[in-house]
Amino acid sequence: MESLASNKIIKLSKSCISQSEKEAVMTVLDAEFLGMGQNVEEFEKSLTTLFGRNAVCVSTGTAALQLALQAIGIGSGDEVLVQSLTYVASFQAISATGAKPVACDIDPDRFCIDLLDAEKRITPNTKAIMPVHYCGGVGVLSEVYSFAKIHGLRVVEDAAHAFGSEYKGQKVGSFGDIACFSFDGIKNITSGEGGCVVSNDEKVIEKIRDARLLGVEKDTEKRYAGERSWDFDVTSQGWRYHMSNIMAAIGVVQLSNFQIAADKRCNLAKHYVKRLSDCPELKLIPLNYDEVVPHIFVIELCGVITRDNVRKALNSKNVQTGIHYKPNHWLTYYKDEAIRPLVVTDSIFEKLLTLPLHADLSFSDVDTVCDNLLAEIS
Ligand SMILES: *Cc1c(COP(=O)(O)O)cnc(C)c1O
Repeated sequence: MESLASNKIIKLSKSCISQSEKEAVMTVLDAEFLGMGQNVEEFEKSLTTLFGRNAVCVSTGTAALQLALQAIGIGSGDEVLVQSLTYVASFQAISATGAKPVACDIDPDRFCIDLLDAEKRITPNTKAIMPVHYCGGVGVLSEVYSFAKIHGLRVVEDAAHAFGSEYKGQKVGSFGDIACFSFDGIKNITSGEGGCVVSNDEKVIEKIRDARLLGVEKDTEKRYAGERSWDFDVTSQGWRYHMSNIMAAIGVVQLSNFQIAADKRCNLAKHYVKRLSDCPELKLIPLNYDEVVPHIFVIELCGVITRDNVRKALNSKNVQTGIHYKPNHWLTYYKDEAIRPLVVTDSIFEKLLTLPLHADLSFSDVDTVCDNLLAEIS
């Protein structure tokens, strides 16, 4: 009915789940083996095939980042370069290792780490750089790798937004040092919660396979064989960060249907671009949606109207919006009065607005969002 349709809330994001995921979960429940076993092995094998290098599944994207950092020896006294404009997960993963996240500025177009700024923040303690693939775009990732090589740093990519994205014809995660993905409920694919680390560094993968299971050596192999470890050794700090069969069962289905969801996200983003690119009151991030699978659709408001008023107006029209993200160096835990200012990040935050994007959105939903937005700002 028309009256109902117009009252529909257009959600910023949501999980998109079909009958197949429900059936896959029921199969695991029926088998009564809910913990980490063969479904996780199957999901890891599919991911390993997809990326052409080893993937190891964990409980969240944050855990993936933390374990990746620990696997390359990052800990107390070390510093990791990371853009301030990211989800607090990136920062928490770094500080969880005992290391210090060093907030860096971003380039004003793609909102990825500004290497000139990052270079000025290098100290003898700097051990790694964590580029964040904001919205799904990777910025100038090849330059991040050259930068890392010059300065002797490891690279841990926060690819939480970039599952399925490509860079120079290669899938993100299929090249480079270490890439970490998130499968939380609203990411490009989900396993309920979950995440994975992808790398061709066998030592890193081996360490994470143990570290996610409390450091119990070779426990992964036992579990995949349907056995348990009774007589084992532990030689390092581990965590309870493994993935469950329930999660993996959802992930396997999502992965096999990924192309449909990815095409949907790309086409919705292209529709936004078509509707909004001529509007002088806003700026779009110049991403190529033939290679980027967008996790979120962020615009920068550049007219006189404030972001929070636009949000209120859209909300009153049943259009949800978001803010990605409050800069981490503004948070009490990560505040550092002594640091050089982050000029771009500090000025851009109040202009950022995230529009609805998920695989169950329709083109007419995008039109509704754009009609309301344009009416408000132009
Ligand atoms: C979602 C996200 C993470 C963490 O993933 P979780 O699975 O939620 O722990 C890390 N970084 C960024 C930029 C994210 O958006």
